[in-house]
Amino acid sequence: MVNQTVTKALINIDYTYDFVAEDGRLTCGEPGQAIEEKICELTQAFIDEGAFVAFAIDLHHEDDRYHPETALFPPHNVAGTKGRQLYGRLEDVYLTHQAKPNVYYTDKTRYSAFAGTDLDLQLRARGIQELHLVGVCTDICVLHTAVDAYNLGYKLVIHQQAVASFNTQGHEWALGHFKNCLGADVR
Ligand code: ZN
Repeated sequence: MVNQTVTKALINIDYTYDFVAEDGRLTCGEPGQAIEEKICELTQAFIDEGAFVAFAIDLHHEDDRYHPETALFPPHNVAGTKGRQLYGRLEDVYLTHQAKPNVYYTDKTRYSAFAGTDLDLQLRARGIQELHLVGVCTDICVLHTAVDAYNLGYKLVIHQQAVASFNTQGHEWALGHFKNCLGADVR
């Protein structure tokens, strides 16, 4: 018997202190803080269903002169700092469930959750075909992850109440791009 159910996963991108908190080092500010409840609700729901939940979280080192972002942004998500912790209640959700077999955490060092990580292998091993994306920023790390996912053949669902950016125009543009160019279900 062929299992007709689409196997889905939630990819939780960069919802950390530095990217969300008022005094985060590269913060989205209020739009980022406004999605806390929705991102926690979706994460909890996927975990409870037994679906695969991956946290793909930016990792940097202080004064890394070989990293292209060093020239572009202030230091952020530096290893071992508070800035790299998940923001708000999401940290509690993660810590409560981190030992579960369907909860996975990977460091990433580029915008895309697929760049230099084993995320694609983890997803393929589980037969996952549909990726649900949440996190920040809509038009940077969520966008680059979505483009890579599209090129790797995944179906995409973007939860628009659970993605945010400091850049309103960029956020709106990216939502249109997900729908019109990546064929994503933006809901
Ligand atoms: Zn970064």
